[in-house]
Amino acid sequence: MKRVRAVVGPDMKIAVSVDSHANMTAEMFALANVIAAYRTYPHVDMADTGRRAAEMLLHVVDTKAVVHFAVAPTALSHSCQRHVTMMHPARGVYDALEALEKDVLLLSFAPGFPASDFSQCGPTVWGYGHDPKKLEHAVEALLFKNTGGRAGMVGGIRRAICSSAAGRYRSPGNLTSRSSLPIRRTIPA
Ligand SMILES: [Zn+2]
Repeated sequence: MKRVRAVVGPDMKIAVSVDSHANMTAEMFALANVIAAYRTYPHVDMADTGRRAAEMLLHVVDTKAVVHFAVAPTALSHSCQRHVTMMHPARGVYDALEALEKDVLLLSFAPGFPASDFSQCGPTVWGYGHDPKKLEHAVEALLFKNTGGRAGMVGGIRRAICSSAAGRYRSPGNLTSRSSLPIRRTIPA
């Protein structure tokens, strides 16, 4: 993503689809305008995910309304065996995602790859929507679904704002803090 951004410059819109085992970083969200994650494991929805990312990007380009972005990391990492979407708990998380998505433009959940040995390893929930309150609610609800409602297992929700006129997302900040923080809301200046 860094190499692509270096070639096309800061104003070109970029949509990315990622494997749900991606360990999402703040830098990735800063480099792309839109990111969508696979919703199946074993992965069979690469084409569907690409289409979701592309449609979201077209909406960002076409809409006159502000598109809000919210992202939240969690500190609770599941083993890859628990990512299988034919069974619970993963099935329940993705069912919840699709139900919550009715109120926003796009939601994604990447359980990440727990065996990766680097500081930003872990699951992440994020989404896009016109209504910041509904977006925040959807991200928060999906986060709690993923953590089984365990308090203290989630990092803060961070929200960046994109207007299609400005064309660039602000970085949501550092996602490395996956410590035991209560949910908090940070609205960028
Ligand atoms: Zn994968």
